[in-house]
Amino acid sequence: MIPNKYITWGNSGAIIRELAAYGAQRAKAVGPENVYDFTIGSPSIEPPKKFLDTVDELMKTVSPIELHTYAPAAGLESVRKAVAGYLADSFGVEYSPDDIYMTHGASSALAIILAALLSEGEDALVLAPYFPEYKIYVEQAGGRLIEVPCDADFQTDLDALEKRLTPKTSVLIINSPNNPSGAVLSESSVKAISELLNRKAAEYGHPIYIVADEPYRELVYGDIEVPFIPAFYDNTIYCYSFSKSLSLPGERIGYLAVSPKAEAHDDIRAAVNGAGRALGYVCVSTMFQLAAAQCLGVTVDISKYDNNRLLAYTSLKDMGFACVKPDGAFYLFIKAPDGDSQGFCRKAMEKDILLVPGDAFGCPGYARLAYCVSNERIRRSLPAFKTLAEEYGL
Ligand code: PLP
Repeated sequence: MIPNKYITWGNSGAIIRELAAYGAQRAKAVGPENVYDFTIGSPSIEPPKKFLDTVDELMKTVSPIELHTYAPAAGLESVRKAVAGYLADSFGVEYSPDDIYMTHGASSALAIILAALLSEGEDALVLAPYFPEYKIYVEQAGGRLIEVPCDADFQTDLDALEKRLTPKTSVLIINSPNNPSGAVLSESSVKAISELLNRKAAEYGHPIYIVADEPYRELVYGDIEVPFIPAFYDNTIYCYSFSKSLSLPGERIGYLAVSPKAEAHDDIRAAVNGAGRALGYVCVSTMFQLAAAQCLGVTVDISKYDNNRLLAYTSLKDMGFACVKPDGAFYLFIKAPDGDSQGFCRKAMEKDILLVPGDAFGCPGYARLAYCVSNERIRRSLPAFKTLAEEYGL
């Protein structure tokens, strides 16, 4: 028997890829310059020179057998040591190499840690809006995903969070900078969440872990700072990816870091190893581990994303669309003028503007525009957006 859950997951949730496929088809018909595809959050900036040079150097200096061999499941010792040292130096949390587990991007970090932390029948709460794949990772682990709505500025609604916490809660997933809203959780929000979780954990008699999903940590604009959650809340597992910071989504590289102060730390580390094996993550590419370890703290030039952010935000605001100015990531979350996000995206699609309905992120009434595209694409799309605004009488 083919398990129903896989059929369901296989047939659902692929809206972003479906829209992108439609865009590619449409581009053949009307020309790529006339399709304003803002669906996929795939970086459009070249990886930094430092990374390209490092890969080049590795290919020239390390023997092919060594460079392309299996790595230990948790990652190369030297790489885990470099990551632990980088996190300790940058954020003051004293990780050891054994706290680090190298992963295939944030996706596998999340799938592994949620399998490691959740038991059948437990709840994982998530601050909405959120990355849709969380639901599959949680359900695969036998848990239930519970959405916590946010406030009007996409910051945490503490009352809503408190109402959803129960003795069954074992995990809270937080993604900041956020996909799809672009919001960055403030330090005061992180402190308030930490206090609430500590209080509830004491009441329930078991820990509540934060899973901090941070592939966009370095993609912030102006003087925005991203609080490092493990520095505020001991029971945090930090999930990081090089997909966006180094523009390497296809190479599948990231890591998870179990806080040295987490309760049941040794069991979590063992469970991470076990879950990694059970899910079939044998090891991350040796070559890209070595390259990433030499590029810790290196980031793509985000000024292009910033220009796109300002162009998209100010232009759409001037036309009358409502959206909160994003502080991070590379998404603009636009309010559907009549509250109907599906209808809004359909009307946009008729003008060859491709947006993703907020429903996909647990936040109906909005549409996501991924501005990690050429500045030219945004510029060319503006007359179509203007027509759309006029249709809504803005
Ligand atoms: N988490 C969030 C919030 C994302 O937006 C993404 C990808 O877009 C991921 C996780 C997974 O990224 P990756 O597996 O490439 O690191």
